Amino acid sequence: MATVAFIGLGNMGGPMAANLVKAGMTVTGFDLNPAALKALTDIGGLSANTACGAAAAADIVITMLPAGKHVRSLYIGNNDQKGILDVVGKDTLLIDCSTIDADSARTVAAAAADKGLEFIDAPVSGGTAGAAAGTLTFICGGSDKAFEQAKTVLDVMGANIFHAGGAGAGQIAKICNNMLLSVLMVGTSEALSMGIDNGLDPKVLSDIMKVSSGGNWTLDKYNPCPGVMDAVPSSKGYQGGFMVDLMVKDLGLAMDAALSSQSSTPMGALARSLYVSHAKGGTKPGENGKRDFSSIFEQFAVPAND
Ligand code: NAD
Repeated sequence: MATVAFIGLGNMGGPMAANLVKAGMTVTGFDLNPAALKALTDIGGLSANTACGAAAAADIVITMLPAGKHVRSLYIGNNDQKGILDVVGKDTLLIDCSTIDADSARTVAAAAADKGLEFIDAPVSGGTAGAAAGTLTFICGGSDKAFEQAKTVLDVMGANIFHAGGAGAGQIAKICNNMLLSVLMVGTSEALSMGIDNGLDPKVLSDIMKVSSGGNWTLDKYNPCPGVMDAVPSSKGYQGGFMVDLMVKDLGLAMDAALSSQSSTPMGALARSLYVSHAKGGTKPGENGKRDFSSIFEQFAVPAND
C-alpha cells in the first residue's frame, strides 16, 4: 500500500488524513500546529519535523494549505530552503488539495515538470462533514496519467473525482463553484431572515424552500439559521466549518479570474463585498473572519427597530 505524506492537517486536512490512516495507509503528517499533528498521531499516523521530512520517503505527497503562497513556498522552497520538489523520489506523485489561484498551481506544476515530476491541483468541495465522511468531491487539473494515478488515493477520501483539464483547471472550476456557493449562502440567509421578520418559523420555511424552486445545497446541508439543523456550524456558534476569511480569499481569486477573462460577475462581486465587510466585524474587530461562512446570516438577522 502507498505511503503518503500529508501536509496541512487543519479543519479539512485532519479528517482527510484520518481516512487514509483508517484505510490502512502509512501516513506521515506535518503541520505548523502541534495540536493538529497530535490528532493524527493519536489515531495511528506518523509525524515528521518538517514538510520535506514527511515528503522525502513518500510515494504520494498531499498538501491541504491555506493559500497559494504556502503551496508555492512548500513545493518550490526559498533561496536558502529546500522545497518538496528537491527532496522527493522521481516517481512521487504530488497532489495539492488546497484552494489557491490557478497561476500558483500552474507555476508549481511547471517547476515539478522541470524535475520530471507529476503535480496535480485537486481542490475539494464538500466541507468538513464531507472530509470526515470521505465523501468529498475532488476537482483535478493535470495530465491524464497523473489523474489516473491520483484517483487511487483520492477515492479513499472522496465520492466524486473529476478531471477538469490541464494544470490549474481544477482551481478554476473550484472557484466557479465557490463563487456560486457564496451567492447561494447570502441569498438563503436573506430569504430566511425575511421569513423570520414576517413571523415564519425558519424550520418550516426551510422545509418549504428545500422542495420548492429556491432549493439549494445550503438549505439541504448547511442551513445558516441557528437551530434549524443539528451538527452544522450555525448550531455550534458558527465554529468549525469553512472560515469567512477563506471564503473572502476564494472570492478574491474568483474576481482575479473574472478580470483576466473579462467575465461579468456582478453577483460574485456583491457577495465578495458582503463577506469582506462581515469579516471585519464580531465582538472584536476581525473576529468574524475566523467564524464559519454561514455566519453571514447575522448580517440579515438583526431584529428590525420598531
Ligand atoms: P485550516 O486553516 O483549518 O488548515 C490549514 C492548516 O495548514 C493549518 O492547520 C495550518 O497550521 C497548516 N499550515 C499552514 N501553513 C503551513 C506550512 N507552511 N506547513 C505546514 N502546515 C501549514 O484550513 P482548512 O479549512 O483546512 O482549509 C484548507 C484549504 O482547503 C484552504 O485552501 C481552503 O480554502 C480549502 N477548503 C476548505 C474547506 C472547508 O470547509 N474548511 C472546504 C473546501 C476547501
